[in-house]
Amino acid sequence: PVWEKRVRASARVRSRNGYAVLVTGAAGFVGTHVSAALKRRGDGVLGIDNFNDYYDPSLKRARQELLERTGVFVVEGDINDEALLRKLFEVVPFTHVMHLAAQAGVRYAMENPGSYVHSNIAGFVNLLEVCKSVNPQPAIVWASSSSVYGLNTKVPFSERDRTDQPASLYAATKKAGEEIAHTYNHIYGLSLTGLRFFTVYGPWGRPDMAYFFFTRDILKGKAISIFEAANHGTVARDFTYIDDIVRGCLGALDTAEKSTGSGGKKRGPAQLRVFNLGNTSPVPVSELVSILERLLKVKAKRNIMKLPRNGDVQFTHANISYAQRELGYKPTTDLQSGLKKFVRWYLNYYSGGKKAVE
Ligand code: NAD
Repeated sequence: PVWEKRVRASARVRSRNGYAVLVTGAAGFVGTHVSAALKRRGDGVLGIDNFNDYYDPSLKRARQELLERTGVFVVEGDINDEALLRKLFEVVPFTHVMHLAAQAGVRYAMENPGSYVHSNIAGFVNLLEVCKSVNPQPAIVWASSSSVYGLNTKVPFSERDRTDQPASLYAATKKAGEEIAHTYNHIYGLSLTGLRFFTVYGPWGRPDMAYFFFTRDILKGKAISIFEAANHGTVARDFTYIDDIVRGCLGALDTAEKSTGSGGKKRGPAQLRVFNLGNTSPVPVSELVSILERLLKVKAKRNIMKLPRNGDVQFTHANISYAQRELGYKPTTDLQSGLKKFVRWYLNYYSGGKKAVE
């Protein structure tokens, strides 16, 4: 059938490393960039995404079109659909899974808790169930989040710091993902690498994130809310540019060892790793707004508000020495230069230009 032909063509490997990678959440922000980068270097890539409407689905469709043009096919489906996943593994014996599908966003968890359980817990378990039972088992790299550090205020965050105080249901499901990964590694010999991303931004980004909707609202002349902590303290984020994150993801794939199980039976110890992927230089949200004002040449109308107890933490700041050592991860883009690229993309995209990646 045509569908199988497209799946095979998309996953066809041209690189010397011989990778065939299943990317979940491929029509998402990070998924699009990672899939395109893998394809560019010759890896076989197949995407899967359920195109949900958490944010503007037309943006996901535009990313899909972009991927189609680079030769990546994105299957429309849910990671909870076991029969579909099994079918994909029958058609292509994937060597790796890059698992990026998730219900993201901190505040939306209060309105729609079920979607976090569905995608971040049930969906992850379903994917791992399939991965454990196929032969050969793929190595898995998955997206965790800096939100697992929760109410921990000892910065910079390093991987061994406490993660037992999640500040939102989103964070709790990301933390649960790490525990679930541990179990599947321990029992079934799956090779698993978790990446704790720190506030990723850039072209083709997510409209629910502050840098994106600040840009939109500043251009519209609409007031924007800037939060400060209850003690008047600054709220700051370790904003990390998408290209740096993509390099970190590729580094994690390239250093992942093989899984050691087969057909659900484990043969020996397999790799389990968790890394911070951040930028190591937190920037106050008020400074983010000042940079956007300069780039857009428009003054923002600022409303200063107290940070509500709705899941947002006051600071994030990554210690990246472990990722630097093991993955060769080295972020190179500062917030000013990264936002310049985002703004250029934003103005082009919303004036009807949907072609360029940047
Ligand atoms: P995104 O929402 O743009 O991408 C996720 C994609 O997964 C979406 O296209 C969505 O349609 C898809 N998806 C969701 N549930 C699905 C399901 N059940 N089945 C199939 N597809 C499904 O988000 P993103 O910013 O690209 O994030 C990618 C990953 O990185 C997520 O796991 C997210 O939690 C994590 N993360 C992102 C950030 C960030 O700042 N962007 C920070 C920390 C962690």
